[in-house]
Amino acid sequence: MIYLDNAATTKTSPAAQKAMLECMEQFWGNPSSLHTPGQKAAEALAQARETVAACIGATPREIYFTSGGSEADNQAIVSAALLGKRKGKTHLISTAIEHHAVLHTLARLEKDGFDVTLLPVDESGIVKVDDVAAAIREDTALVSVMFANNEIGSIQPIEEIGALCHEKHVLFHTDAVQAAGHLPIDVEKQHIDMLSLSGHKFHGPRGTGLLYVRRGVPLLPLIEGGAQERGKRAGTENLPAIAGMAVALKDACDHMQEDTQRQLALRERLIAGLSKIPHSALNGDPVRRLPGNVSFCFEGIEGESMLLLLDDKGIAASSGSACTSGSLDPSHVLLAIGRPHEVAHGSLRLTLGAETTQDEIDYTIQSVAEVVERLRAMSPVWDELQKGVRSYVIQ
Ligand SMILES: *Cc1c(COP(=O)(O)O)cnc(C)c1O
Repeated sequence: MIYLDNAATTKTSPAAQKAMLECMEQFWGNPSSLHTPGQKAAEALAQARETVAACIGATPREIYFTSGGSEADNQAIVSAALLGKRKGKTHLISTAIEHHAVLHTLARLEKDGFDVTLLPVDESGIVKVDDVAAAIREDTALVSVMFANNEIGSIQPIEEIGALCHEKHVLFHTDAVQAAGHLPIDVEKQHIDMLSLSGHKFHGPRGTGLLYVRRGVPLLPLIEGGAQERGKRAGTENLPAIAGMAVALKDACDHMQEDTQRQLALRERLIAGLSKIPHSALNGDPVRRLPGNVSFCFEGIEGESMLLLLDDKGIAASSGSACTSGSLDPSHVLLAIGRPHEVAHGSLRLTLGAETTQDEIDYTIQSVAEVVERLRAMSPVWDELQKGVRSYVIQ
């Protein structure tokens, strides 16, 4: 199988698997216990915390391990909102293209009386720093803008937004789940107060992630109980997964430059190949995009049927976000960049990984072209477009 759905999840690397096994065999104690097995586990936990902190320019005390990106997003936003409210600040700013872990959290807070501003993005899927500046008010408690988008790969001007928020004394959170291990992250240089990442998006295990919170920034727990994670996240730590994530993140950061160069070349080859299909369009920015992300819309077809036919050809792809698959609503991200409903339905996302080869890319270009042609031949919409009854949206 050719796996081109690395934005949904990545294969756990052998190094991460090894670290996990080692942890289960040697560090099975409870890190909160005072006896030797417990203290050995506590040391392994401290080691993992140091490793991940170094990868993003943070200190170990600023790292809170969570069950993944979704939990980290939820905690960052809910905590900032509730703490803001105590000071009379009930306004939250984010963007229209966030992951549902952010959007649904904001929607729930809105029902509870918070005022939410979702900023638009331009046609390449990038938020304007000026729009963020204009949206900030006296009562703004938080700005949350994702580092890079999971569907169309667009990279946001995080450093500029961070600088702006610090100048205006507004808390800044970024969902860096797609960026971590793929783009350089430095929480100091980029003025980030809170950052979410997830282990399984960079060849680490699922069910683990972290929230970085700048020292001095207060944080409320989502989960109450024991004193783990300095009282900010109760529950016995998932040490094997945490250790696997730390190894995977360090590997990804150590090899970022060469991996990026390799993926960029493959990405450009794939984009050039798919662009030859008539009435197709690349979604997102051609340059400011994740090195492994390719997203296209093809006029006159359904994304879901494309996925099934590609699967038959041995290619694992996605029509957008794994979280919206199975729902008939078109992607909120594609609608936000101005794709009309009928075009947004014909989307295809191919996300490369550490193991993707040029042969796989060439086979994929050929397969997608065949599948698009086959589906168009059966599509009543395509027939109308051909006859001129309907006009093309993508020229
Ligand atoms: C995958 C993803 C998440 C969710 O992370 P989980 O660890 O699966 O909960 C959040 N945000 C973005 C941008 C993602 O791609």
